[in-house]
Amino acid sequence: MIAQLNEAFLAAKKINPTKLAAQIRELGFHCLQCGECCRGEDNSVVVFPQEIRQILIATGLPWLEVVGPPEEGEWDKDGCFHTLEWRLKKEGESCRFYQNGRCSVYRDRPMLCRTYPFYLDNCELMCSECRGLGGKITSGEADKMAEKLIMRYLFEIQEAIALLQRYRDFERGEAKKGDRCIVHDSEGEHRIVGGALLE
Ligand code: SF4
Repeated sequence: MIAQLNEAFLAAKKINPTKLAAQIRELGFHCLQCGECCRGEDNSVVVFPQEIRQILIATGLPWLEVVGPPEEGEWDKDGCFHTLEWRLKKEGESCRFYQNGRCSVYRDRPMLCRTYPFYLDNCELMCSECRGLGGKITSGEADKMAEKLIMRYLFEIQEAIALLQRYRDFERGEAKKGDRCIVHDSEGEHRIVGGALLE
């Protein structure tokens, strides 16, 4: 898998930003500031350690008030839950940073938010659902979006490589109700016990 990701990284380095910007222009996008991408059941923002630290510095909040582990994962034989990567915390169905109709960490928001509704998959431009698609976008804005998308894509591949390099496999076990969880990310393992982050 690491070899495949290294290949994906090399392919991503060859993405032509001018062509990508032209595709974005053709699709069109203008943010309506409706906040729909920050609210609702589907809101799930994957964040990487470097991005989390930026929000920690900006807000002064502790780690587990900024992010939490996703619900999908597996149990080991000792009843500890293992999962991959972090998600921004939610309050109800909204991102916890969506307050009074705006993003309270706008300057420090993760790359996923900065590039929404676009993303790259297998070097191809993809779009999530968004009412702003089809809107007017200037060449300059499309160029910037293309740059950010490529940067995000390279960063995501690097994070995935680092995660795999540090990942320690475990013996699977039965699902159990417990208060122990290990989040695997590009820095290795983060342990949560009884709602507290130990490392
Ligand atoms: S961090 Fe900001 S932009 Fe991203 S989902 Fe939360 S409120 Fe929306």
